[in-house]
Amino acid sequence: YFITLEGPDGSGKSTQLELIAEYLRQNGREVVCTREPGGSEAAERLRQLVLDPQLAIDARTETLLYLAARADHLDKVVRPALASGKIVLCDRFSDSTLVYQGFVRGLPLQELLQLNTFATGGLEPDLTLLLDGDPLLLAGRRSQRGVTDRFENEGLAFQLKVRQGFVELSKAYPQRIRVIDALQEQESVRGCLISELEALLKG
Ligand code: C5P
Repeated sequence: YFITLEGPDGSGKSTQLELIAEYLRQNGREVVCTREPGGSEAAERLRQLVLDPQLAIDARTETLLYLAARADHLDKVVRPALASGKIVLCDRFSDSTLVYQGFVRGLPLQELLQLNTFATGGLEPDLTLLLDGDPLLLAGRRSQRGVTDRFENEGLAFQLKVRQGFVELSKAYPQRIRVIDALQEQESVRGCLISELEALLKG
């Protein structure tokens, strides 16, 4: 199974990914944890390039870099793992492209959908877990814990658009995308994610 986690920065994606991987492993499953942009050697180098704030890359260039990273990551890591029967848990995937480069940066969604298909060869997640919450409350929770934000300079308007983009996608793909309230206690979020996983694995 190919399972992706999506959501804004600071929604707890990476922490929860580790928690559910641990759960699946304890239940005898082989799991590969990976992330985008990145996950393979070439894609990690592209990540450094695309996330370099010095470069001020325009939206099209950025999109193509993310997609190049995705194609290599799928080729080197995701497809081989799926072919050997492992569960792949991936922090961000194609939905992030639609949200950040589409909803937020304004590129046409139709074109991005086609480009995603080109990069992935049509591979789609079996399940996408969306960690959703009011960006203001998520930010408040992080500062309470003393976490300093890498992306806080993007501002609240940006974070609101990101959230809105993800929520719209979840309405467009209700079968695949499950919305989880990221503002719950960590343990409750974990519980919600695990019941979604169990439903998929049983089905
Ligand atoms: O999830 P992670 O913190 O690794 O993501 C890094 C950053 O890359 C995110 O903050 C997001 O702003 C950006 N990103 C993006 N477009 C994508 C994927 C990620 O702008 N398609």
